[in-house]
Amino acid sequence: MAGTDFISDELELLERLNQRRFLKCMTRGGAQHVLHCGRKLVNFSSNDYLGLASHGRVKAAAQAAINQFHASAGSSRLICGNLEIHERLECRLARLKQKEAALVFSSGYLANLGIITALVGERDQIFSDSLNHASIIDGCRLSRAQIHVYRHRDLDDLERRLRAAPAARRRLLVSDAVFSMDGDVADLPGLATLAGSYDCLLMLDEAHATGVLGSTGSGIVEYFVERGRLPPGREPVDVAMGTLSKALGSFGGFVACSSGLREFFVNKARSFIFATALPPSAAGAALESLQLLSEEPSRHAALWKNFRGLKRRLSEAGFDVTASETPIIPLTFGTEAAALKMSDRLAERGYFVPAIRPPSVPKGTSRLRITLCADHSDDEVEGLAKEVGEVAPTLG
Ligand code: PMP
Repeated sequence: MAGTDFISDELELLERLNQRRFLKCMTRGGAQHVLHCGRKLVNFSSNDYLGLASHGRVKAAAQAAINQFHASAGSSRLICGNLEIHERLECRLARLKQKEAALVFSSGYLANLGIITALVGERDQIFSDSLNHASIIDGCRLSRAQIHVYRHRDLDDLERRLRAAPAARRRLLVSDAVFSMDGDVADLPGLATLAGSYDCLLMLDEAHATGVLGSTGSGIVEYFVERGRLPPGREPVDVAMGTLSKALGSFGGFVACSSGLREFFVNKARSFIFATALPPSAAGAALESLQLLSEEPSRHAALWKNFRGLKRRLSEAGFDVTASETPIIPLTFGTEAAALKMSDRLAERGYFVPAIRPPSVPKGTSRLRITLCADHSDDEVEGLAKEVGEVAPTLG
């Protein structure tokens, strides 16, 4: 049998670097609470931004979908797993994204792998923001295209690289819409101009934008149209990827695009072709969440009110939170040890905000990643800001 010393060696190395990860066994309380080691903590780490995962109607829709379509789709979409509920969900997603079509994948991670590897290969180029999500990075690597990583949100650096790159069969420009660890927003108008000038397909990962950005939660295009930075009615994004697993309170990934591209992905995206279709319960829950997104706009308003409230309070307490533009607020402490200590102290005081460390974030930027939910109360938001303000100076 091959030697297995590497297992303990590598885990010990991670331990020494304060980068070892442990699974925590959680029980969910209400929308914004977790039960951990018998204690109820206010959760400021979930991506369930609108609190829809615990909504009675969303849970009932998941159960109804199981009753009608069973617990599993039973096979991939192209064999016998293409259910009417998948197609209904895709029509609804296309409407939200104002696109001709949409295609659902079994997770957001799989969507990014499948989309990128279908679009580009060995003879092609990818231009990718340095802080893009791991699933984009993995899709880029798997595609075997030539990868050009530009400095985070730096359009001048991007243009230099676009100009310097040799001719290629196809070019893909890809960016997170909302950066998952920083809460800042990609400059879509700038990216769209460069994509047009340098003949790139433009792909945006709207995992944290769907249901969050724009007054109806449609995403990054609506956000910039409403700010007067994009003309209404023009569609600058070729490939709008998103997830059902964050603000939509369910599970799964999707792409919204032209009908032609949808057909292309059905034939070419290996993570679509070779994975079992999304469980009917996840599709049913997502459909109900999309309905609630338009029926209960007060959730979206409450999320943004909480974001503005916490950002103001943290800023008054002396933290630099200017970069965050969405309900993700990072507090960077640099070392892994400091971020872990901060997280532990907050847990002692009743708040669950895990430390985020490399490789999820670049070295030297370990942080607390605070995320807000529509269901957080004013007292909870104020309480967190107060505790953070008290604990941070004691870290030494
Ligand atoms: N893209 C981004 C930006 C994400 O944050 C995530 C999830 N953390 C994904 C893709 C993957 O989505 P899923 O969890 O649905 O697989």
